[in-house]
Amino acid sequence: MDRVFGAGERVGVLTAEPLGRVLDYRAPEGGCGSGDFVEVPLGPRKVLGVVWGQGDGSFDMAKLRSISRVLDAPPMRDELRSFLTRAADYTLTPLSAMLRLATRTPGLGAAPGTRRIYRLAGPAPNKLTDARLRVIEALRDYGGASVTLAELCEAASCTASVVKGLVTLGVIAEEDAPRDLPFPSLNPAGTARLMGDQVAAGDALVAAVAQGGYGTTLLKGVTGSGKTEVYLEAVAECLRHGRQALVLLPEIALTAEFLTRVEARFGARPAEWHSGVTMTERRRVWKMVGQGAAQMVVGARSALFLPFQHLGLIVVDEEHDTSYKQEEGVLYNARDMAVLRAAICGCQVVLASATPSLESWVNADQGKYTRLDLGARYGAAELPEMRAIDMRAERLAADRWISEPLAKAVTARVAAGEQALLFLNRRGFAPVTICRACGHQVGCDHCDARMVEHRFLKRLVCHQCGATKPVPTACPDCKVEGRMAPVGPGVERLAEEVTARFPEARVAVLSSDLFGSARALKAQIETIAQGGADIIIGTQIVAKGHNFPLLTLVGVIDADLGLQGSDLRAAERTFQLMRQVAGRAGRSGERRGVALLQSHQPEHPVIRAILGGDEEAFWRAEAAERRAAGVPPYGRMAGVILSGPDVQKVFDFGGELARRDGPLRRIGAQVFGPAPAPIARVRGRHRVRLLVKADKGVPLQAALAEWVGQLKPPANLRVAVDIDPQSF
Ligand code: ADP
Ligand code: ZN
Repeated sequence: MDRVFGAGERVGVLTAEPLGRVLDYRAPEGGCGSGDFVEVPLGPRKVLGVVWGQGDGSFDMAKLRSISRVLDAPPMRDELRSFLTRAADYTLTPLSAMLRLATRTPGLGAAPGTRRIYRLAGPAPNKLTDARLRVIEALRDYGGASVTLAELCEAASCTASVVKGLVTLGVIAEEDAPRDLPFPSLNPAGTARLMGDQVAAGDALVAAVAQGGYGTTLLKGVTGSGKTEVYLEAVAECLRHGRQALVLLPEIALTAEFLTRVEARFGARPAEWHSGVTMTERRRVWKMVGQGAAQMVVGARSALFLPFQHLGLIVVDEEHDTSYKQEEGVLYNARDMAVLRAAICGCQVVLASATPSLESWVNADQGKYTRLDLGARYGAAELPEMRAIDMRAERLAADRWISEPLAKAVTARVAAGEQALLFLNRRGFAPVTICRACGHQVGCDHCDARMVEHRFLKRLVCHQCGATKPVPTACPDCKVEGRMAPVGPGVERLAEEVTARFPEARVAVLSSDLFGSARALKAQIETIAQGGADIIIGTQIVAKGHNFPLLTLVGVIDADLGLQGSDLRAAERTFQLMRQVAGRAGRSGERRGVALLQSHQPEHPVIRAILGGDEEAFWRAEAAERRAAGVPPYGRMAGVILSGPDVQKVFDFGGELARRDGPLRRIGAQVFGPAPAPIARVRGRHRVRLLVKADKGVPLQAALAEWVGQLKPPANLRVAVDIDPQSF
């Protein structure tokens, strides 16, 4: 509730400090209102807080301290405060941690007009120290955008004096940061010429936005069918009504292409919000969004916590993408939180995907979401032809991964001036390093993972915690020299085979770990899109919606990779990934694409479904299986992850918790475990998981809170609740 508090009145203030809950303070001189950003004394420090409402009376009026000052920032609206409260309740996260997500913008309360910014101003002299060179490189990296001193020093890992020296030389310019530069306005006039199925889908979305109020639409269409084209019309309608639009993308590398399209449609670029945006820019976006002056934001999941003034539409593109689930800190799924925020502020949500999550498919099937389908690719582009290559018949040598039929297809495409993509979802050179003498496999010293050899880095790397060590010449176990060998393929090793077999071809490897920065990755993607490579070797980052017009052949090196293991989501994930990867082929429409899937079990039902079986039948069968098992989306699940340095203590605590399941039994829920968590050891901490399964419609969160709250964990042991875990 919005209200105003007079000077000296008792008010509740929420801070983003750990363990912080709403604390009582006195309103400052001049009073304050709910939602105001304030600075309050906390112990010896002054911290940022938000006036959350009336105090709860937990402190004596006589002992109350006063709010130090009200900051010069637009107050947090009631709608955002409700969203944070509901999201905290849903994810069982302390409210203060939720507030942190919404106030991570640095310098929110900083006095304006005091910041200095830097940009390249003149030619660089020939001889420069390393530190000075790094500063210039960093500024080039920012592509002409200005940065603050702190950002520049961090990017170039240098001291302020290095920067000042370059200013004196006239190589870079220092100036006052402009205040509140407005965003250029987007012009939603006109309409795109939608075709076929697009017309009805576009009309339906535009009507929903025009009518206002909450609603969720699942926009399902094969890659290249024009989903983006269609939802941009919904954005246009939203802008015409003077409301703000938010588009979430699962991957920063996708924003560049998207921004260009927005610019083509609306004549200007929208605001950007993700980890690759400079702090200066983020401060500006945060402010402009709060003032309603940024009409459209394109961003990563954290953009959901921006202080929109009048949100009219949220689009979650590639809604099935697992990177929408934040797996560290506050565990939340941005797709679900988008729906929650829309329900609270009364706006529309569009979930777009070629391969929707089973959750969204079921929600649409049950009528909770509206479903719109785009049946065909736009224009002349046809869906790729999909075929399996039965690897049992291929008899490849142990260090070969490309079958004859695939090699022939690659040769033909490259000869025709087209591009071929070889997909292998394994980073590095080889997934395992084994001792040929004793069979020992090199593992991480801190995790339960095997170390992956990266030739590029000349080291073994743990893909769970990032620890590295040199490739051993002697076995760490049996000490025999010279018998250590890489086993299995990673993209770097595949690249070796490709270079040997296709010596004439230009080869590009697209794997997230080969790129120091998002900018380098973006450059690589642009090069490929412009035809600067013949054969592209990629991990799953190529599956994420990039548009390579010359690409006509996709070869999946190991289509069986995701089908192992007992995870109930394995079939869904494999189906999504294979369809997404195959969808990269033949998008331009000039030549039909082909996708070849190398598999040792081409008769597997999932592989058959991928190869063009009845897709709706596949989803129905998956849904039936989940219903029979009583798991999401038909039942509810939560994980409780216990972690600590001593595995026995963690298991003991888990066992104790499992025995005290009274609060869960009262709602008819079951506990499974303790068992090793999907990631069983990270950075020296053992992780054990208890899985809770409940019916829909029971008060699961309340029961979980009561259950976990019964036992205080021993020192060193951490407890985290994961509502709707990714794997079960
Ligand atoms: P999706 O988001 O479903 O993958 P896109 O919206 O990216 O599909 O469309 C695929 C390609 O077809 C893009 O290059 C897009 O510009 C083009 N396209 C789709 N629909 C139209 C249309 N109605 N008019 C012009 N171009 C279109
Ligand atoms: Zn590790």
